Amino acid sequence: MDSQCQVEFRKILEGQRQTLIQKIQQKKRELRAEKTKRTFHRSDDSSDTVSDGIAESVQDEIVVALIQSMSDELHKIDNALWRLERGGYGSCSECGEMIAERRLQLLPYAARCKKCQEIHEAAAEQNERRQRDEFNLFDDSDSNSQS
Ligand SMILES: [Zn+2]
Repeated sequence: MDSQCQVEFRKILEGQRQTLIQKIQQKKRELRAEKTKRTFHRSDDSSDTVSDGIAESVQDEIVVALIQSMSDELHKIDNALWRLERGGYGSCSECGEMIAERRLQLLPYAARCKKCQEIHEAAAEQNERRQRDEFNLFDDSDSNSQS
């Protein structure tokens, strides 16, 4: 990859980084505002807090998960910028092969080539499925004990 290309990718990454930081800050502010509002609401009216509380905490979890995934993305972008700085940008972190430029255009912070990414994702998915199965197990036993 020539230096002209690297400059282009750096520009894209810096732009994405700024956008992402702003989004994360905005979401964090929303979360804090929601929590403050709720505290006031609770002290006003305590009659319906149980069902409200559940719905709100699910909403919070979604926002927290969103912030988490955006932070992960930010981390990947930082990593890519670091590799642009130190060298190694554009080559796969697993096998060392050059990552196809078309792939980098779609995903400038890609750290793996397509092949290694697919292997990595398959492993992650398997892991996730295993966790989900355990979770479902708890879910089932919960509903059984209730009825
Ligand atoms: Zn690879």
